[in-house]
Amino acid sequence: MLYPTIILVLLFSILIVLLFLKIEKNKELHMQIKQLQKSLDEIDEQAKLILRTDIELNKTQEDLDRKITSLYALQNISREITTTLDEQQIFQHIKNYHLEDLGFEKSLAFLWKKMNEKFILVLNIGYTPQEIENIIAALNDDFYLKIIENKYTVSSFTLSDASLNKKIKEIFKVQSFIIAPLLPTEGDKGFLLVGTEYPEANLSEGSEELINILANQISQALENARLFEKTWQTQQELEKKIEERTQELSKALEDIKIISKRKTDFVSAVSHELRTPLTSIKGYTSILLSEKLGGIPPSVKERLEKINHHTDELVHLINDLLDISRIESGKITMKQEVCSLKEIIDKIADLLTIQLKEKNIQLTRQILPGAEYIFADRQHIERVFINLIGNAIKFTPSNGTISIKSSPFNDQCQIDIADTGIGIPEESLNYIFEEFYRVDNPINQKLKGTGLGLSLVKRIIEAHGGSIWVKSKLNEGTTFSFTIPKPT
Ligand code: ADP
Repeated sequence: MLYPTIILVLLFSILIVLLFLKIEKNKELHMQIKQLQKSLDEIDEQAKLILRTDIELNKTQEDLDRKITSLYALQNISREITTTLDEQQIFQHIKNYHLEDLGFEKSLAFLWKKMNEKFILVLNIGYTPQEIENIIAALNDDFYLKIIENKYTVSSFTLSDASLNKKIKEIFKVQSFIIAPLLPTEGDKGFLLVGTEYPEANLSEGSEELINILANQISQALENARLFEKTWQTQQELEKKIEERTQELSKALEDIKIISKRKTDFVSAVSHELRTPLTSIKGYTSILLSEKLGGIPPSVKERLEKINHHTDELVHLINDLLDISRIESGKITMKQEVCSLKEIIDKIADLLTIQLKEKNIQLTRQILPGAEYIFADRQHIERVFINLIGNAIKFTPSNGTISIKSSPFNDQCQIDIADTGIGIPEESLNYIFEEFYRVDNPINQKLKGTGLGLSLVKRIIEAHGGSIWVKSKLNEGTTFSFTIPKPT
């Protein structure tokens, strides 16, 4: 009986142990399940976090894309409008590159015309004519002028006055808007309004900044256009004035030519008319002086000699005048030939020996190689030398020097005739070659002259294709220089 009881107790104990073990196992399993559950919850949380981050990333990416597109659009618009110099075209360009890319389907721009005290529409994107009419009527509100005056930008998400905010949205039929002033320094000011029917969540401060930049670019372009217009107008006016002045000048030139021709014809005619009686006077005085018609008392002879002398002077003057007018009118042509300068200078020096000796003036000559010959009308060029050397003698005090130098000058010879005479005052140098011009100096007061010599010299030289100029220092001396062609 004891034996089965022991077995039973044993079995019962085993059962209890097994049960205990089972319970422990279950507990462990439960713990594991709990841990598993926790891990699953954690994974779930992380998955949710990843999903959230992904959505945020996508949103940021979209925002970035939008901003990049906006910046591109802004860059394109800026490029177009800053190179445009016409007000209408500026807004046409903005229309072409529609502002949709900046995130706005509706845009308007108005300029304030001070003269008419009115806003003028210059840009319309997205509005019907009827809507525009209503908008213009609503612009009477001071608010829009204040935007220009106070230079501020307003938008639906920064405008604190809720009722005004609502009113603007209603007028412009938008959910969100930005209004920025257009402020060119020159010309009409105004404002730019951009809007969208989408809620303002799409807009940010960045958008306001972007529209501000655009408004600044438009202002700059308007200023450029205005300046260009002004410059263009000034240029047109200037061109018109130049045209008018040119016409006036050419008319004056024509008149001068006519007058000059009349003067030349007159001088020529008068000189001719004077020459004939002068020739008779000279003829009669010569006959009387020869006493072929009978003896004459000394007092009469003296007067007749005076008449003879003055007649010679008059003939000389008339001949000079006639020559000047003939050369001027092209009636005399230069008969050019190869002439030796040495020969010409020697001949003139010979002719003037008495005058040179009288004042003990030394005449030096220097003919450089390559400047020995000239291609000129011998008779006329001799008159040039006689006049210039004669003047040099006349205006150089005793014991002075006159030096003549000939040097090559391209295909011409340059001849300088320098003296150590009284010189010419600076203010007279510009008039020295004009007809009848004489400097008021003691020598001129004493000695007679016509003031025609240099005028004739200049015409002869220019008729040869040369030019003449003078350098002088008062009380030191004068140098006349001229060019004359060389033989080819
Ligand atoms: P004229 O000698 O008959 O007065 P010109 O036409 O030859 O006329 O000269 C004009 C003026 O130029 C002279 O009156 C004189 O005042 C000035 N002039 C010309 N040559 C000289 C010179 N070598 N030195 C100083 N003055 C001169």
